[in-house]
Amino acid sequence: MIKKYSTLFVCIFAVVFLFAGCGDVGILDSASKNVSEYQIVANLDYENKTLTATENVKYYNNSGNDLNEVKFHLYPNAFREDAEKYKAVSPTQSSRAYPNGFSEGNITIQSVNVTQKNTDFVISGEDKNILSVPLDSILKNNSVVEIEIKFQILIPNCNHRFGYGENTLNLGNWYPIACVFENGQFVTDGYSPNGDPFYSEISNYLVKLTYPAELKLASTGNLLDLQNNENSSTATLSAKAVRDFALVLSDKFEVKTATLGETTVNYYYYDDENASQHLQTAIDALQTFNEMIGAYPYEVLNVVKTNFLQGGMEYPNLVYISDDVDVESEYNNVIIHEIAHQWWYGVVGNNECEYAWIDEGLAEYSTALFYDRNPNYNKTSAEVLGSALSSYLLFCDVYNEVYDSLDTSMNRNIHDFNTETEYVYLTYVKGVLMFDSISEIIGENKMIKVLQNFYAENAMKNAAPADLIKSFEDVTHKKLASYIMSWLDGSVVFEELR
Ligand SMILES: [Zn+2]
Repeated sequence: MIKKYSTLFVCIFAVVFLFAGCGDVGILDSASKNVSEYQIVANLDYENKTLTATENVKYYNNSGNDLNEVKFHLYPNAFREDAEKYKAVSPTQSSRAYPNGFSEGNITIQSVNVTQKNTDFVISGEDKNILSVPLDSILKNNSVVEIEIKFQILIPNCNHRFGYGENTLNLGNWYPIACVFENGQFVTDGYSPNGDPFYSEISNYLVKLTYPAELKLASTGNLLDLQNNENSSTATLSAKAVRDFALVLSDKFEVKTATLGETTVNYYYYDDENASQHLQTAIDALQTFNEMIGAYPYEVLNVVKTNFLQGGMEYPNLVYISDDVDVESEYNNVIIHEIAHQWWYGVVGNNECEYAWIDEGLAEYSTALFYDRNPNYNKTSAEVLGSALSSYLLFCDVYNEVYDSLDTSMNRNIHDFNTETEYVYLTYVKGVLMFDSISEIIGENKMIKVLQNFYAENAMKNAAPADLIKSFEDVTHKKLASYIMSWLDGSVVFEELR
């Protein structure tokens, strides 16, 4: 009897173990069903900095509405010389973005086919930032239409998400990507130089890129195949259940690799004497957030040093780390913050134009907690949060002095912030202060449970403030909505915190 029991026990254990090993893949499998499929075949003309591509989208209508058109963002058009309303670069960023003077970037749509039939498309939006594709017949909810877009992009000499610099060529937000449809319309917010103006749905990608053989490639997703010819390489890349697809190319890249659980972490770099430490920072961040928030579900995480005017930028499975960050502790901080975005933006998405405080506030807050769990970085969350508070209060004083009034509401569209400074203080800094203030009320253990709940409940979806408030209330059984709203609408009394 005992023997039988123990055999059964071993079997159950083996089954549980099997499922535990495949648990993350399970999330990707289920999240990659009934979503749009992008297949992009692209050819990079490195000399002329152009890329021509055929993008085939099996657009899955999960909007709950009948659709008679599909809209796509054309983010590269924010880099046009005559971009007005939705520019990528503000005058104050210009010298950092364009060290060699202004350089044009754009996207030209050459043709659009709907179900293999040529269609009259429309470049719409207020600044040539939207592609509208009319459909021949109504697309019912939960059905698919095949849209083929042929396009060419001109890549600017610009240290930006999309652009090339001295060391790298960045392909972020480079292809037509479907706008999210909600509340009866497509969400078509244009570019902003102030923050990350992106909002998209989980989709599957298959990307085949041909590029000069001397370049090394880092990208979202897994490398399925690499063909090396005399002058060119062709990489076939696949990504399941991601909300965007980015690539970075360089002839200077060296790569360091390590594995943590099911995830391979690659650090792509150049001119970096501390490369091993930076790979270790990425591993530490991945491990800390895996344990603290919930498992990272993908097989790859690429940390990429690159020409970029800001500290860093997050894409699914891939983060940019600016080669302009030369203070060691700050470089590590950028790695940790951008990796935190794999949880807050990557897996749990949100409309970054409306609620940047969700992903930026949570990325900052997770980064602060990272330091308590990794004392060898010689920082504590108390130090990080203390300096956030004093710099926020200074910001308020200066703004009051200069502008005679101060709007501290956080739930504002990205285009409704007057300056980059105002945006940063009210989404990142006030965001992290809000989460810390709630943690003071409910205790850090409960706070971690809220993060875990929010992650598990909203994985592979787009979350709104109500979803976050729900996680707070479900975990704590406290009515926290009005307290959180007082932070968001700017009515919380900050003087008490001085
Ligand atoms: Zn961020």
